[in-house]
Amino acid sequence: MHVPAHPSYACRSCGSPWPCHQARLALVTSFRRNRVGLMVYLAAHLARALEERPDVHPAALAGQILYWVPRRR
Ligand SMILES: [Zn+2]
Repeated sequence: MHVPAHPSYACRSCGSPWPCHQARLALVTSFRRNRVGLMVYLAAHLARALEERPDVHPAALAGQILYWVPRRR
């Protein structure tokens, strides 16, 4: 499963920064009718990542975890 490792927030399966490509596809699919829910879910991950990765700039973590979500059409 393409889930985050802790505290690295790299994908457990492929090692890419989480959410990796496969994880993003799975998230967009499972939250396809609930964009707000996806943002809330990812915001919770971002909050945890901010605690676990104090060495990474917060804006970089936000870009990795939150700001890849496609804009609403
Ligand atoms: Zn992965």
